[in-house]
Amino acid sequence: MQKTVTLLGSTGSIGTQSLDVIRAQGYAVYGLAAHTRIEKLMEQIREFAPQVVVVTDPACADRMESLLAGLSQPPRLLRGSEGLLELASDPAAGIVLNAVVGIAGLGATLAAIESGHDVALANKESLVTGGRLVTDAVKQHGVHLLPVDSEHSAIFQCLQDAHSAKSLEKVLLTASGGPFFGKKAPELAGMTKADALKHPNWDMGAKITIDSATLMNKGLELIEAVWLFDLPPEKVQIVVQRQSIIHSMVQFSDKSILAQLGVPDMRIPIQYALTWPQRCPGPAPELDFTTLRQITFDVADEETFRCLAACKKAISKGGLAPCAANGANEEAVKLFLQDQIGFLDIGRLVEGVVDSQDFGQSYTLQDVYECDRMARAYVREHL
Ligand code: NDP
Ligand code: MG
Repeated sequence: MQKTVTLLGSTGSIGTQSLDVIRAQGYAVYGLAAHTRIEKLMEQIREFAPQVVVVTDPACADRMESLLAGLSQPPRLLRGSEGLLELASDPAAGIVLNAVVGIAGLGATLAAIESGHDVALANKESLVTGGRLVTDAVKQHGVHLLPVDSEHSAIFQCLQDAHSAKSLEKVLLTASGGPFFGKKAPELAGMTKADALKHPNWDMGAKITIDSATLMNKGLELIEAVWLFDLPPEKVQIVVQRQSIIHSMVQFSDKSILAQLGVPDMRIPIQYALTWPQRCPGPAPELDFTTLRQITFDVADEETFRCLAACKKAISKGGLAPCAANGANEEAVKLFLQDQIGFLDIGRLVEGVVDSQDFGQSYTLQDVYECDRMARAYVREHL
């Protein structure tokens, strides 16, 4: 039977690469969701003929309505974050691939799971902000949460043998180190958004590219790994692997280590999340060992890259501390991209919010959103 996919965040970096995979596999697209890039969304509608589209930004949704009027068989248009939830919980949605950026993706992740859909998750912020809610919902509804993030896909791939998986001792989460690897605070202070947006190995959306430069992305991924693989944070070790060829590794109790390797191409983990437990030919190229000269390892510099230290503190504090770290980071990155704060301010603000209070342990979805608002307000008050 032809697989059906609903793709949230279809106009982004993961979204468009997901459509490459969907095109190559010949899957049906039930729904597409975007925020502002409606011209790109229109091209996708023409090619993939979804039944439902969502535009979350209200002004763009109005413009979308007039664009759709020109189509002979337009899809149904839903609007705003409510529209996103409605699409994610639509019984006909199929597997829901969530490639929205930021906490804006959390509600849709929960809605899809609660409606019984398997979720292919690129939106790591869902697990960082509401990890307990998401993992409890997965257990309650008996659905699969399939990682799209390359490191987590690598770990997931290394754990497919159920016998070995029981003996998992630790995870070795690899990091490229980002464009500022090896630099110290005085040099980082003057880094601009143009410098930070140049990632050595991956072509990604602006927010995650800045997160890679600050190492916030690795901190978010550590938290993501804790939730996905039900591990204490001290069992996730970060290893800098500058070439992004080893996408992560796992170590078992006998000290044997398995790694997953490949070219740095997100279409491999995206495809695995969609085809799991099968593997199929796809659009990604093979790794060329005749030109690959070296695979190097280094230690991440948490003294300099405070976002990583702050995320470690946040996950050991527990409760909503990771949500606060994430909210502060989203706000700080927005301000950095508007040239309103410096590069090092991002780490200062994220660490500041984590240190600012206790965050309790249990929480509701409403608490998550309240904590996110608090963290954003903290950032604006501490510029
Ligand atoms: P992009 O910024 O390229 O794309 C984000 C997508 O989300 C776009 O479709 C955008 O719509 C949509 N969007 C933005 N704001 C909202 C909102 N408020 N409500 C609903 N939709 C919204 O990001 P990426 O594709 O790079 O990243 C997406 C997610 O995947 C992130 O969580 C990231 O951490 C994760 N990820 C990304 C990787 C990568 O290689 N890019 C690797 C691993 C994980 P529009 O463009 O129309 O405004
Ligand atoms: Mg990653």
